[in-house]
Amino acid sequence: MMYISTRGQSPPRAFCDILLGGLAPDGGLYLPEAYPQVTRAELDAWRALPYHALALRVLEKFITDIPACDLKAIVVRTYTAQTYRWCRPGRDASDITPLTTLEPGLHLLELSNGPTLAFKDMAMQLLGNLFEYVLEKRGESINILGATSGDTGSAAEYAMRGKRGVKVFMLSPHGLMSDFQRAQMYSLPDANIFNIAIRGMFDDCQDIVKSVSNDADFKARYRIGAVNSINWARVAAQVVYYFKGYFAATRSNDEQVAFAVPSGNFGNICAGHVARMMGLPVARLVLATNENDVLDEFFRSGVYRPRATAETRVTSSPSMDISKASNFERFAFDLAGRDAAVVREWWSSVDAGGSFDLRGTPYMARLPEFRFVSGTSSHADRLATIRAAWEKYGVLIDPHTADGLKVAQVHRELGEAGVPMVVLETAQPVKFAETIREALGREPGRPRELEGLEALPQRVEVMEADVGAVKAFIAARA
Ligand SMILES: *Cc1c(COP(=O)(O)O)cnc(C)c1O
Repeated sequence: MMYISTRGQSPPRAFCDILLGGLAPDGGLYLPEAYPQVTRAELDAWRALPYHALALRVLEKFITDIPACDLKAIVVRTYTAQTYRWCRPGRDASDITPLTTLEPGLHLLELSNGPTLAFKDMAMQLLGNLFEYVLEKRGESINILGATSGDTGSAAEYAMRGKRGVKVFMLSPHGLMSDFQRAQMYSLPDANIFNIAIRGMFDDCQDIVKSVSNDADFKARYRIGAVNSINWARVAAQVVYYFKGYFAATRSNDEQVAFAVPSGNFGNICAGHVARMMGLPVARLVLATNENDVLDEFFRSGVYRPRATAETRVTSSPSMDISKASNFERFAFDLAGRDAAVVREWWSSVDAGGSFDLRGTPYMARLPEFRFVSGTSSHADRLATIRAAWEKYGVLIDPHTADGLKVAQVHRELGEAGVPMVVLETAQPVKFAETIREALGREPGRPRELEGLEALPQRVEVMEADVGAVKAFIAARA
């Protein structure tokens, strides 16, 4: 299996060659040259597999340059009940992604039972093990530089902690994350993890990362890498749980399922799109945004209009606060019939701060084939949905999952009767205690092992928003 760029002007590469990088050299994103197909016989054989075995079946279709026995060892080591143990009481942690039925035909797929209590652990834990394996094979090392407003940074740190050949330098806005998120990251004792709190906003952190990455000499000299949401291996790892969720919500492979996905950078739902393209019987992909509705606007109107960073609203589902959806180009490539020249034309406008408009084009006519619907959710919707889920089902959900459930319910009222709806649970409520208090007037519970997390000693370097100072810090430790 080789990977090609959505912009069509970079040579095809193998999986391990795109694993450690970000964008393709031509500025595009990597995708498989063709989506591997899943036969009915395979679906039948996969239905009863435990998570790690299913993950191996799916991933070996995408990863053909790691020997089968090595890939198996990596996958088995990644998806253990021990790592994904923070499930709801009464659920089986060895399911890795247990399914909770809210009412007949409406389910919650728990994806947030990993070490940082957000779905990003599902892919990031695999990435940590893949990085270590490939770096060791090649006798190389890497220094990962990232910026986080919360979930991504902690997932990356917990995936990379203690890994040979890997150091992590993670920038976060000083004083702006929740106490829980801060404690999660800053209490890690591992010598290869460096937390840098920047006196500024998340955008200042991201600007520093960009300017360090644009310094080609520094980047090469200190082997600077990234683990951002456009990494193909993260998307591939996420494809697995769409299969798992499908099997859990159905009795036979004649049935169809709809998935509702709280979306920001289009990474999670992109994996759902890939699963459907492989042949998983997906009736509908329900995309939910918060007040930052760039993607909802596209799927309703055919106009993709990324916002200026300054226009991005700060909301109570902060991990979905995006101005443009970095993975959306992958879907656009398929919508364009995989014509890279068309994607280049669309993105020549996007990269210049503009938009593109598919109204009246053949692409608009093709859009329904891809089976997306979308909707938005507001702060008031979020609170009402958290309350309703608690009162009606006795299930506590986080603000992002509430956005997904809200849009799922709107679609269920309008949409395909009889098709089970699976809402992806993207984080646990304890990460966003303030909104839970506002909705319910009570504290979210937390896993017993995480009691007292905030009281642990913390390691963090507080710095001004100064590129030179960050570079000097890295140079002294890389
Ligand atoms: C990252 C994140 C999202 C958005 O996922 P995308 O892949 O960026 O669409 C939603 N909810 C939570 C809790 C997240 O951490």
